[in-house]
Amino acid sequence: MLLLLITSDKKGLFLNGLFLSYRDPLLGLITLVAFVFAISFITYSFSLYKEKKARGEYRKLLKRFELGNLKEDDYVHLYATYNLPFDSIVLLASTFLYKGEYNKAISVYQALLEHVNDKVKKEELLELLGKTYFKGGFLQRAKDIYLQILKFSPRNEEVLTYLLYTYEKLKELESAKAILSSLEELGQDIKLEKAYINALGVAYNPILSFEKKTKKLFELFKENASIERLLVGFLLRFNKQEFWENLKIFDLSKHLDLLWFLDFNDVDFDCVSESKLLSELYTAKAYINAKEQSDIFVLDVLIALRKNHSKARADLNFEFICQKCKKVFPMYNTRCPQCHSILNSKVQAVLTRSLLEKNQSLQ
Ligand SMILES: [Zn+2]
Repeated sequence: MLLLLITSDKKGLFLNGLFLSYRDPLLGLITLVAFVFAISFITYSFSLYKEKKARGEYRKLLKRFELGNLKEDDYVHLYATYNLPFDSIVLLASTFLYKGEYNKAISVYQALLEHVNDKVKKEELLELLGKTYFKGGFLQRAKDIYLQILKFSPRNEEVLTYLLYTYEKLKELESAKAILSSLEELGQDIKLEKAYINALGVAYNPILSFEKKTKKLFELFKENASIERLLVGFLLRFNKQEFWENLKIFDLSKHLDLLWFLDFNDVDFDCVSESKLLSELYTAKAYINAKEQSDIFVLDVLIALRKNHSKARADLNFEFICQKCKKVFPMYNTRCPQCHSILNSKVQAVLTRSLLEKNQSLQ
């Protein structure tokens, strides 16, 4: 093509000059080849330079990614300029969530929302934004986002479920009940959730007296025994008398932590004497001296240490294992923070050095 251009361009001064100056056809051909070679060389060098520059930029970007240093704008840049698929961008942004950097994740989702026009993708981003607000503890904002999504997608079960968790944390339990009705209409089994939210509604009610709360919680417990932990927790805090009077209806092994930390003056030792487990527990705690041993290993060790007047001082601590996701927590959660299942944490007692001995070793 270059050849054609050169030979046909009779009016071009430079090329005319070439043909006029070098009449020798061989020399003309060599000049032409040299000219073509020079042009090709320049074009090739330029493309090499461009490629090297692009590689440099790419490497720089990769390095930032490796170090987890991608800025919020980089995600928008990757999406808008480099056309990286939306799902990949969202996956990359989730690294902020895993690292607990909720503010950064929020900034990325907000920035992406301004560049995304597709309705489905927008809804997905809003859901992620809501979840991030929820996990980060920005509950009011999470609530606002979820309510916004439900305006155009009222049957979004994931959003309804997270809005339920949000209302529960905000203690807006009447709104939580309304969400449960929506989930029931969508075919979900809400029996346990309903009993749980109703029990919370009673326990947190600022108007009801402790006596009325006790009565209502007992009624709810009779309807659904799964709320036992809520009832026992409430009684041991606000109405201990009722707890001791109804001791026999509870599975005490599920509440060892609550019972272990009871103050000496709050324990009804007449009732304790009727329970093998409580007699062992309070012998191990040195409140009484009623048992020689226990079938529960940790209690047996504590009783043996006491009986042998051992210098080693031990104490009990408790772990709580979610029976659904198997995650272990240092404190009891009525709703598992990991998998959101309710009232299924198993209490496990573990031996620990006593606080007294720890303090002595620090002196
Ligand atoms: Zn769990």
